[in-house]
Amino acid sequence: MKRYPMYVNGEFAAGESGKWFPVYDPSTEEVIAEVADGSAADVERGVAAARAAFDSGGWPQTTAVERGRILLRLAEKIRQNAAHLAELECRNSGKPIVEAEFDIADTASCFEYYGGLANKIMGHVNPVPENAISLAMKEPVGVAGQIIPWNYPLLMAAWKLAPALAAGCCCVLKPAEQTPLTVLEMAAWLTEVGVPPGVVNIVTGFGESAGAPIVAHPGVDKVAFTGSVEVGKQIMRSASDTLKRVTLELGGKSPNIFFADADFEAAVDGALFGVFINQGEVCSAGSRILVERPVYKKMVEAMSAKAKKIRLGPPLARETKMGPLVSKEQFERVAAYLEVGKKEAKLAAGGGRAKEFGRGYYIEPTIFYDVDNSARIAREEIFGPVAAVIPFDNEAEAIRIANDTPYGLAAAVWRRDIFKAFRMVKALRVGIVWVNHMQPTFVEAPWGGYKHSGFGRELGPWGIEEYLETKQVHINLNEQPIGWY
Ligand code: NAP
Ligand code: MG
Repeated sequence: MKRYPMYVNGEFAAGESGKWFPVYDPSTEEVIAEVADGSAADVERGVAAARAAFDSGGWPQTTAVERGRILLRLAEKIRQNAAHLAELECRNSGKPIVEAEFDIADTASCFEYYGGLANKIMGHVNPVPENAISLAMKEPVGVAGQIIPWNYPLLMAAWKLAPALAAGCCCVLKPAEQTPLTVLEMAAWLTEVGVPPGVVNIVTGFGESAGAPIVAHPGVDKVAFTGSVEVGKQIMRSASDTLKRVTLELGGKSPNIFFADADFEAAVDGALFGVFINQGEVCSAGSRILVERPVYKKMVEAMSAKAKKIRLGPPLARETKMGPLVSKEQFERVAAYLEVGKKEAKLAAGGGRAKEFGRGYYIEPTIFYDVDNSARIAREEIFGPVAAVIPFDNEAEAIRIANDTPYGLAAAVWRRDIFKAFRMVKALRVGIVWVNHMQPTFVEAPWGGYKHSGFGRELGPWGIEEYLETKQVHINLNEQPIGWY
């Protein structure tokens, strides 16, 4: 069995505790690797290395074009090793291999994008009413602590590392304990592509023992977190002691809204894709499916018929469309919600463990209908293949239901009447709206939520802004004294 040490200051080593924790293949429930169990002492080393690289190691002083080239080389390395990374991601997370291949391609694209953006960060000349030159300069925020979830393991690492490195920041990243393998494989190439020691540190371990010390550490200037609302709130509280900059991406309960004039086949497909992609373990999952009354019954029937045919199977099989959930813990969470749903609404498809598999954390694609928006399965993020279908009578009601949620990450609207679709776009209190599609995600476009889905934006130029400070510079061109006293 392979052991994966953590990566600190350019070197792979066991944690200070000398302990290792198991990492599983969720389709077989077998241990596939052991990973160094990080603690506050390892975070201490990681932050010290990042601080040194930032404060005196010269990383912020490397030219932007050089940082860009390094990221482009890393992207190339990821592409060259895409098949291996996709297979490892697939085995460790349970996601279908075809989806894992997309994720790795997107990971490379993310490093490429920020490689290209590194030398396009620009400041401003401010037109102040003085004989002076007034500038707004952009500078890296410093050492970034980055804590990521298990649903898109390497891609989430790229969303965090790529903009930070392009900006000139140094990083201490903690992957989710369930899925630390691919980012550790990638770390092995950092020196070769030109990332100096200490610029990127990967501290593996659990949230409380390895994540919380990053958030509390006074040597960390900023924390970027993706995960649950509960942990997001803890992070914000803890970060307030040291006044860190904080950005949070906390998931959602996104409405996928279908009007009667939408193309019916596309609607059925879009509803299923929106909620079952990646086993529903998606922060922007379209887990509330709102359907206009005239097509409601027909849509529930068509969706259910198609959902029952979705191919569950071993993640590595190319024909598999849904694999197991990532872990026993997540399986049990979702299974508990299935029982809640059976009490709150009517079941049209799925509703239990996929029984054809003797082992593995497989859950059937599940559709509840006649769900009231006040039900728990309509309000709480399930993070599994569970859809709540809710009928509505008109546009105003669709808007009311869609916005009646603590979350505000994403929404989708399906209708042919583009004027009405645009009215919906404006009315929805969310950070991302798709029209006649759901889930396409591009590194060029901003990603992030309103309300309890967090704040800050990732991707595109918005993503790099979160790793930059703005410095005002005033250059007096008068040669006389100020002359006040
Ligand atoms: P989580 O607990 O929020 O974990 C996300 C990351 O934060 C992991 O790396 C985790 O470490 C770490 N963490 C946990 N407690 C921490 C703390 N006190 N201080 C600092 N870091 C901490 O999410 P989860 O347990 O993996 O999943 C639970 C639920 O969260 C899901 O069912 C879903 O609803 C939601 N979720 C949302 C997203 C999203 O994209 N927004 C992604 C994943 C999950 P560990 O490895 O020890 O957990
Ligand atoms: Mg957790």
